Formats: sequence, C-alpha cells, structure tokens
Amino acid sequence: MTIENFEQHVELQQLQKGLAFYSKGSVHHLEEKQPGNWQATIAGSEVYRVNITLKEKEVLAVSCTCPHEALHCKHVVGVLYAIKGRSGKVNFIELVNSIPEAELRQFVIAHGSNYEGFKNILLAHFASGPLSGKDAL
Ligand SMILES: [Zn+2]
Repeated sequence: MTIENFEQHVELQQLQKGLAFYSKGSVHHLEEKQPGNWQATIAGSEVYRVNITLKEKEVLAVSCTCPHEALHCKHVVGVLYAIKGRSGKVNFIELVNSIPEAELRQFVIAHGSNYEGFKNILLAHFASGPLSGKDAL
C-alpha cells in the first residue's frame, strides 16, 4: 500500500469517514518528525494521535490511539489524506469529479447544516426566490 493507492486498500466506510475528517480540517499538527515518520492528532469523538511511517511512498506502519480494531481506522485514513494533500497529490477538481453525485449531495447537505458560511455561499448562489424566477422569464 502506498500513499497514492491506499484508497484501494481501505474499506469504503473508513475511507469516507477519513476523507470527511480531512476535508473538515480535523487533522491537526501534521508534522514529519523524522524523514518518513509522520505524526498528527485528529479530533474525533476524542482527540487521537496517529503515527504513520512511510518509506518513499510505501506505507510501512500505521498506528492510532483509538480503540478501533481495524488496521486502518478512519483516523489513520484522515491523516493519510492529509499527508497526500500536503504533498500536493490531492487534486481538488479530480477529487470532486470522482465523488458520486448522491454522495456529493449528501455531503453538501451535511456540511450546509453544520457550516453557516458554506450554507450561505450555496444559498447565495442557488436560491432563486419566486421573484428572481419570474425575472428570468
Ligand atoms: Zn483511530
């Protein structure tokens, strides 16, 4: 498994939750302590510490302080995305294009409910009241 193809090796559910952590900005203090040795904290239901060891792009070892049994918990996945993002490997447009429409819709609804700023941008852009609809005619 490498930093570039980990998405093919992780359960879809963990992948989605991890990506949500990353995109919400829940990954903090991401630091390469030593070459290839990454550390971060991630704010889930509690704050967990994640360690990831890379050799070149190969993921050699991962650990997380959460009680989750799976090798790649959602926190590890979140940090993998953060490392990938740090290296400029997450292409925003590619990422958006790769998300199935229903999931994107779900994401927009969830985040629009949680983030006032995001909701406002969306409303400003898409909310056409009855009047502006009439104007368009
Ligand atoms: Zn974890």
